[in-house]
Amino acid sequence: MTDIIQLLPDHVANQIAAGEVVQRPASVVKELLENAIDADATSIKLIVKDAGKTLIQVIDDGKGMTTTDARLSFERHATSKIKSAEDLFQLNTKGFRGEALASIAAIAHVSLKTKTEDAELGTEIIIEGSSVKSQDAIVTPKGTSVAVKNLFYNIPARRNFLKSDAVELRHVIDEFHRVALVHQDIGFLMYHNGNELFNLPKSNYRQRIVNVLGGKTNEKLVPVEEETEVLKLQGFVGKPQFAKKTKAEQFFFVNNRFIKSAYLNHAVNSAFEGLMKDGYHPTYFLKLTVDPKSIDINIHPTKTEIKFDDEHTLYAIMRSAIKHSLGQFNVAPVLDFDRDANLDTPYNYQDKRAAVPSIEVDRSFNPFKDEVSTSKKESFSYHKKDNTAQWESLYVGLDRQEPSGLKNIEFESDSSTDSMFKDEDSKHGQTTFQLQKKYIVSTIKSGLLVINQNRAHQRILYEGLLKSITVDESVSQQLLFPLKLTYSTTDFEIVKQLKGDLECIGFVFDELSDNDITISGVPVNLTEGEVSIVLEELIADVQQEVPDDNFSITDLMAKSLAKSMAIKSGQPLTVEEQEHILNSLFACKEPSVTPTNKVTFITMSSEELDKKFV
Ligand code: ADP
Ligand code: MG
Repeated sequence: MTDIIQLLPDHVANQIAAGEVVQRPASVVKELLENAIDADATSIKLIVKDAGKTLIQVIDDGKGMTTTDARLSFERHATSKIKSAEDLFQLNTKGFRGEALASIAAIAHVSLKTKTEDAELGTEIIIEGSSVKSQDAIVTPKGTSVAVKNLFYNIPARRNFLKSDAVELRHVIDEFHRVALVHQDIGFLMYHNGNELFNLPKSNYRQRIVNVLGGKTNEKLVPVEEETEVLKLQGFVGKPQFAKKTKAEQFFFVNNRFIKSAYLNHAVNSAFEGLMKDGYHPTYFLKLTVDPKSIDINIHPTKTEIKFDDEHTLYAIMRSAIKHSLGQFNVAPVLDFDRDANLDTPYNYQDKRAAVPSIEVDRSFNPFKDEVSTSKKESFSYHKKDNTAQWESLYVGLDRQEPSGLKNIEFESDSSTDSMFKDEDSKHGQTTFQLQKKYIVSTIKSGLLVINQNRAHQRILYEGLLKSITVDESVSQQLLFPLKLTYSTTDFEIVKQLKGDLECIGFVFDELSDNDITISGVPVNLTEGEVSIVLEELIADVQQEVPDDNFSITDLMAKSLAKSMAIKSGQPLTVEEQEHILNSLFACKEPSVTPTNKVTFITMSSEELDKKFV
């Protein structure tokens, strides 16, 4: 038999390596930013087009490369950062494998411009798919600029695998955050499609966190500081009352490198024990400095996991340091008059304010046709109670059609839904009553019906919202005073992405700029005080869903809003309200379950009841 093994040509080997190093535009951003930092840059500019699919460029003012180094930098295993195996244990740079540039050049059009301090002229190299197209001496400032264009142009399968621009941009921003947060002594600029997203001047750590996350971050931070033989800990945790529903604001940096550690995260959580509601996560920005020898760097270049020699000690130190800080800064309530009261409301969600009188603008009013407006008019003829504002929600976007959906569910003896509630019992007036402010009980022909009010309302709202988004615009109420909300850049991008859908369900945005949004109209079933909570929960849900990407943003939004807007257990309901939940529920396409598949009602037949009395 002839020999069959051969060495792969370099460009093939590079493409294979690229598969590991470069998963998406964000991976390129990470590698280029890290190279700029390793080159001792003091200011770094990141320019991205189409979420990095078209262009990712990083310009730094670091030490630059000589012509020979510039050429070598694209070779695999070409690195200036380690010379021998021992160096691996004293690593102070981000890179050391010498793989990133070679990998990136294998799968994109790359142009590199670089110049060292003392050179007269710089070097420009253009590489496409691992082959050098040109190399020239050029005039360029000290430092390096790497432009990566048309990522995966020669691997269509990978290019097609990329997600929407919104999703990829979020990954890019996450990567940018992870680098920029911890290098406060370097100035960063980031542009996307010509718009400046971040301008982060050199500053201290606290100021950097505030600049990155924006808004009212400053007042939320509690400093944490500890120094022992094995660990220097420095940074901030968020006050418990500002805990978030997502883990988006949790950052560990070990020797200035972002890492994830479930174990250390547990240490932080345990320090917050008893201070936070279930389902909320503390915010933290913690820098750990340890001896490089005590961590295992032999990890995959793109992974963020890490192995410490002595995790248990780190755990104990972190836990007690954070507890101590929280104790010092949090036990006594802080007098803070500037605080945004809206941020506190998740804990008093039930104590909603009464609806603010508002001007109704029915933009879709059509006297000849519009069923939405008909049902809305009806809603005003009811005796108003304190919670009318919420109550109106039951009518929004719902056709008052015959409950045809009922035909799909199995009610033993009911052949026609029309007759279902026209039982003899109903002739005596009241047909429903509320049990423990949680259930609506009614009779049906075959026996007894028990509806979970919160779940039923979720279903009703969900279908109404989906309908508003996909079919017709919903009605909106104008706010007396426009509401201004400030978001972090990441959250702001999410709101921008959802803007269209939010408008369909009744939000009116006056302005979206500089991380601020101004809202002048909201859906009729939402009170002004609820707006910020509902949006925050929506953002949290979208953020949480993003990693698997396999979802329809519209559906997710409808689910999230339905959940946060639905009347809760514990809410007393008038008979009219009960009846309308019942009717609206059975007018739904899928009345038996919530959007997240939980049972909305149960029935009990008279036979079953009979059995109980044997
Ligand atoms: P690594 O960072 O693991 O060494 P890379 O492929 O990322 O490998 O880079 C290869 C080499 O190119 C680096 O070791 C460094 O010497 C040089 N280099 C890359 N980017 C820059 C930059 N922005 N400024 C100066 N030198 C750079
Ligand atoms: Mg590198």
